[in-house]
Amino acid sequence: VEVLATDLKVLEELGRGGYGLVEKMLHRPTGIVMAVKRITSSMNDESQKRTLIELQTCMKSDCCPQMVRFYGAMFREGDVWICMEVMDTSLDKFYKSVIASGSRLPEPFVAKATLSILEGLNFMKLQMNLIHRDVKPSNILLNRAGAVKICDFGISGHLTNSVAKTINAGCKPYMPPERIDGDNKVAYDVRADVWSLGITIIEISTGTHPYGRWKTPFEQLKQVVQEPPPKLPFDMGFSKEMFNFVENCLMKDFMKRPKYPELLAHPFMESARNEKHFSMSQYVQQYLPEPTTDPVAETAAQLSRVELQ
Ligand code: ADP
Ligand code: MG
Repeated sequence: VEVLATDLKVLEELGRGGYGLVEKMLHRPTGIVMAVKRITSSMNDESQKRTLIELQTCMKSDCCPQMVRFYGAMFREGDVWICMEVMDTSLDKFYKSVIASGSRLPEPFVAKATLSILEGLNFMKLQMNLIHRDVKPSNILLNRAGAVKICDFGISGHLTNSVAKTINAGCKPYMPPERIDGDNKVAYDVRADVWSLGITIIEISTGTHPYGRWKTPFEQLKQVVQEPPPKLPFDMGFSKEMFNFVENCLMKDFMKRPKYPELLAHPFMESARNEKHFSMSQYVQQYLPEPTTDPVAETAAQLSRVELQ
């Protein structure tokens, strides 16, 4: 299916990030509802073409259940439009709503979510030769069926996760010490994503990002480089396996940090595979309001029927 901007109709806003807007849109010719992310770019025609060609790699993500489906990308009025599968929420919003209700994400949820993220990242590396570079809770999406998928791969390499962005946008740091500490000769390695995963696990399971609440982004980056790595607290009831898994992800020396095959074989991931009683979909649905007959979706369905006649 070739997606044209003129065939898309905005249904609602899904979220806003450092680069722009994500909207739910109806693709009228097919009736498919998709999430469209618009990124402002100042690329010339040549680099636009190159970006589109590179984004073609993302089509391969279709066969990976732990990656958000990619429908296509286009340039429109200078912006890049990225069309992808719509999900129900992202991990940052989700853990915050769980905290707001006076609870915390249970370990089986975190274990199963971590397993999905690892499988997604491992597929990206093996099948697409891609490193994510922007692993963080808002780039992990969830749906009511209990699926956990990574998004914002492919484009993230070009546009995000720089030290400059972290400082300018006031972002909390997810990047590892070796990316901050200057030496640009260190090539990007999957283990940068492993560090970000460790920070993500601490944030979603404790409810707070491990780097200083009152500090400026600059001071936080200095903390990442100078202080011992963060770890899970001892008094919140996490298992030894989970504690050790996070400790492994957060080795400051990236040469000591494990890669995906080793992490996938870790006892914490074994526990995620063996946990048969915890249902991700039931847990997610507890916190997400029922998809009652939504007037917008209803109109969308009608519109697409009209369009298909
Ligand atoms: P960031 O990831 O930095 O928060 P983004 O622009 O990538 O910024 O996304 C903004 C928000 O839009 C995300 O936090 C997420 O909640 C939402 N979002 C992004 N993609 C989708 C999608 N495919 N389905 C549903 N919601 C999405
Ligand atoms: Mg994002």
